Amino acid sequence: MFNEDFPVIFERSQPGRVGYSLPELDVPEVDIEIEDAYVRTEDADLPEVSELQIMRHYTALSKRNHGVDSGFYPLGSCTMKYNPKINEDVARMPGFSHIHPLQQPETVQGALELMYDLQSSLEIITGMHTVTLQPAAGAHGEWTGLMMIRALHEKNGDYHRTKVIVPDSAHGTNPASATVAGFEAITVKSNERGLVDLEDLRRVVDEHTAALMLTNPNTLGLFEEHIQEMATIVHEAGGKLYYDGANLNAILGYARPGDMGFDVVHLNLHKTFTGPHGGGGPGSGPVGVTEELEPFLPKPILKKEENVYVFEEDRPDSIGRVKPYFGNFGINVRAYTYIRTMGPEGLRQVSEYAVLNANYMMRELEKHFDLPFTQHCKHEFVLSGKKQKKLGVRTLDMAKRLLDFGYHPPTIYFPINVEEALMVEPTETEAKETLDEFIDAMRSIAKEAEENPEMVQEAPHTTVVSRMDETTAARKPVLRHGKK
Ligand SMILES: *Cc1c(COP(=O)(O)O)cnc(C)c1O
Repeated sequence: MFNEDFPVIFERSQPGRVGYSLPELDVPEVDIEIEDAYVRTEDADLPEVSELQIMRHYTALSKRNHGVDSGFYPLGSCTMKYNPKINEDVARMPGFSHIHPLQQPETVQGALELMYDLQSSLEIITGMHTVTLQPAAGAHGEWTGLMMIRALHEKNGDYHRTKVIVPDSAHGTNPASATVAGFEAITVKSNERGLVDLEDLRRVVDEHTAALMLTNPNTLGLFEEHIQEMATIVHEAGGKLYYDGANLNAILGYARPGDMGFDVVHLNLHKTFTGPHGGGGPGSGPVGVTEELEPFLPKPILKKEENVYVFEEDRPDSIGRVKPYFGNFGINVRAYTYIRTMGPEGLRQVSEYAVLNANYMMRELEKHFDLPFTQHCKHEFVLSGKKQKKLGVRTLDMAKRLLDFGYHPPTIYFPINVEEALMVEPTETEAKETLDEFIDAMRSIAKEAEENPEMVQEAPHTTVVSRMDETTAARKPVLRHGKK
């Protein structure tokens, strides 16, 4: 399966070789009682190598990874855009990186001011009354928002509101969060234009409706055109409106969920606001709410009293803490830096370029691939590999072939309402040359599908690891490397 030597750090191990030197113990030695079961009797089976060997090992591994800094990464819905390096400088300032969450608030006023200003900026950007920075990711924000909606209904005695409506074009986390928050997720269909079917929405909304969760732009990259009608339908039935704003880079500075009538919105600072992500985090998923929902926010609440920042713990209606301490502070510093660097005009430009780049690419690629929804898109678009499938080349094959061209593939087989889906999000930070090169690669692959399908079916050819046997990989995973 490996096309070349994998770093064999275990095989290079020599007994007694060390790659570190530790300072002499300068504190008194203590004897602690440890239960026998937990006492190690043999040394850990770790490779014994020099510092240089281990350095080369990790550097070699890092080169085999694909990241935004090494190449184009058009992973739809994930917003893999450039992470400005000034964010890293600021996050590493000692006043931000050497503080402890258990310090007394009076000793960390600067950090609290940053959090407060970030909250205020996000309130302006979303048009919401109050924002909490506690949730650690988008899905965590969804769950937090739904728990607040649930607390509000319960406070009003509306225990029968047990259903959350989720369009089939929503992000996959939406129905999952609804279920984890104790609701029943009800699907509403999309119409032939890829938008929420209003007739179907009217059919499912009733006195049991707790909320509608809307991903906007939806996972087809399309802006929902009938939000006002949806808001009226749901609000008149006593339900609340939830806005999944993970992909706010499509509408920044142009439209605000608060103005559209939404009661709750979450953002992904690790997408729109340049927090580095991938590989599972860390993220930050702030949630904004209307004045009506403000009492239910997770506690404590950060407040400014005179000129001092304080935490308010006395919040009887709060859903409680959703995370230890105060959210992923380091990601919040990066988002704050980004917002201050860009300014209001810069943030507007973000959505202009995100939308322009996506539409440019979509119009070039629709010449070679099936495009199920033909109206203009927002920050991303979804192609279908239907045409190529007839030639025996699946979307999965094309995604693998893109690796040979040095690209991270787009999201595939999602959303599920598009056959052989291929979801592309170029993001606003890419130059036109990069977009053109990717379009060329896609065009060559479409041509190969017609003329030389094996080339695509057997890809990738140039990567360290070739085509996996995905069934065996899932059923019998080999999760460790080294001595058996
Ligand atoms: C990424 C994403 C989420 C989930 O965010 P996580 O931080 O991965 O939990 C939710 N909704 C949309 C539209 C997204 O793109």
